[in-house]
Amino acid sequence: METTTKPQAQLCAHCQKPANLHCTRCKDTPILADDIQPAVYCSSECQRASWPTHKSICKRLKMRKMVYRAGDILQEMFYMFREHVFNKRVFKIEYKEGKMFIFDDQKPERFPDDEMMACHVPGPFPHSMCKADEDRKALRTHMACSDAVAYLHEVVDHVFGGMPCVLTELDIKPKNHKREAVSVMRGVVDAIDHQHNIIKVKLRSNGEAFILDLASAQYGYYEPITVWTDYMQNRVRCLVAREKKYDEWGGLLKDYRERELSRDPKEVWLRMVLHLNGVISQLLKHSILCWEEAVGTSILKLLGLPKHQYEMQKKALLAEVDADLGHAIKWVEDQCEEDKKLRSAGLEGSMKWEGEGAGGVDGANEVDEVKIVLKEMGLTGSVFVV
Ligand SMILES: [Zn+2]
Ligand SMILES: [Zn+2]
Repeated sequence: METTTKPQAQLCAHCQKPANLHCTRCKDTPILADDIQPAVYCSSECQRASWPTHKSICKRLKMRKMVYRAGDILQEMFYMFREHVFNKRVFKIEYKEGKMFIFDDQKPERFPDDEMMACHVPGPFPHSMCKADEDRKALRTHMACSDAVAYLHEVVDHVFGGMPCVLTELDIKPKNHKREAVSVMRGVVDAIDHQHNIIKVKLRSNGEAFILDLASAQYGYYEPITVWTDYMQNRVRCLVAREKKYDEWGGLLKDYRERELSRDPKEVWLRMVLHLNGVISQLLKHSILCWEEAVGTSILKLLGLPKHQYEMQKKALLAEVDADLGHAIKWVEDQCEEDKKLRSAGLEGSMKWEGEGAGGVDGANEVDEVKIVLKEMGLTGSVFVV
């Protein structure tokens, strides 16, 4: 959702007469504390006359609007991603003392082998245990901030790619939660003071900076974009590590890839989850690229559209991505079913998700594997990037 603009004194930015013609470029930009406001004019003559002075502010406002919209789209995609690849087993949720207690159990030792097989199909997302939409958002984002930073890395990169900005990763300890979502594992309330991963978006043009926090609903904050200074003052207790460069092989994405390749047999279940997430995140990006190609547009263009067109195209994009992810997960489920049948008949399973046997997935095979998965799922647009 876009931040609503506060009611403006509708006076012409040029001659101060009553006005109702909005500058279409900067219209609908969220208004921040610095009080730079989108321009309104009484006539096109005034707009033309005012352009030389309005131009630089207009550019700045439009960029700001695009950052907020990019955050908006990315958050919707992250919610979808989490819902499709929901890798928690939630037994129940209790709402008491103003907190949300999530009774989950992800411990691999808890599950015998056959149950582990069932585990590599994610979800289903426990909609019925959530009372309100906010609960659903909290559950999708709970303990998932590093997933947002790692698995949406390439998608975030793509969405912000055409904008003149620098992205960095930050590890922080958060404060001022508006809600508490707490894990209960085997009856024990999780009391760890967890860190939180976020992304800093700094515009090259004027140094304006924002925080992109896709997993903040677990703390009761639902806006993906916050002005950097506000976020640091009101939401950060301390920094855990220095800012990390958000490049292709840096930060959490690299950590996650290394963990997936880990040969530690105890981490088999974790590797399955990581691998499935990795494949689905590739699909997410693939799906976006296919949409761009089919519609003959780009995310960058979408972000700059007038509000009505933006909302329509965004809706179409998200529906497309949602359908593709749903299709992918269905495919995985079918494969797992097939695999279980083979195994119960004493035959070798065909699934490779669990990374068993000869070392599982290494870098080169992973690319092939994603290609095969895409092909078998019928997702073979001409754009293909891994
Ligand atoms: Zn005027
Ligand atoms: Zn303007």
